[in-house]
Amino acid sequence: MTRMSWNKYFMEICKMVAQRSTCDRAFVGCVLVNKDNRIVSTGYNGSLAGNPSCDEIGHTMRDGHCIATIHAEMNALLYCAKEGISVKGTKAYVTHFPCLNCTKSLIQAGISEIYYLNAYRVDEYAVELLEKNGIPFTKIDC
Ligand SMILES: [Zn+2]
Ligand SMILES: [Zn+2]
Repeated sequence: MTRMSWNKYFMEICKMVAQRSTCDRAFVGCVLVNKDNRIVSTGYNGSLAGNPSCDEIGHTMRDGHCIATIHAEMNALLYCAKEGISVKGTKAYVTHFPCLNCTKSLIQAGISEIYYLNAYRVDEYAVELLEKNGIPFTKIDC
């Protein structure tokens, strides 16, 4: 039996995390991993903690988007902000290529690398920012 790679290990966890999404418009998961291959945070698409979720009260739509939802990447980053956990240099595993706002936040928070599963609505400017800031982004299949 061949041993599971780190990439597969974290992406499988990421897929599991995504299943807890409460906004069924997108089941998205994010896992932040440090240099020692330890998970520092996880996040999925959902409403503010403690507030009613889309699967309970329906979506709150504006301009075709559900505005009640916090994206998985932001949830993962903001938990660290809340608890004082450094994310500098961590790798982000995401089930979907991050949207532009999440890409900017990941870069600004000091993420070193991105691994994604689905090339879903890849934003050209997000790609440009990642390239300009020297952040590798790699699609992995698992
Ligand atoms: Zn929603
Ligand atoms: Zn996003």
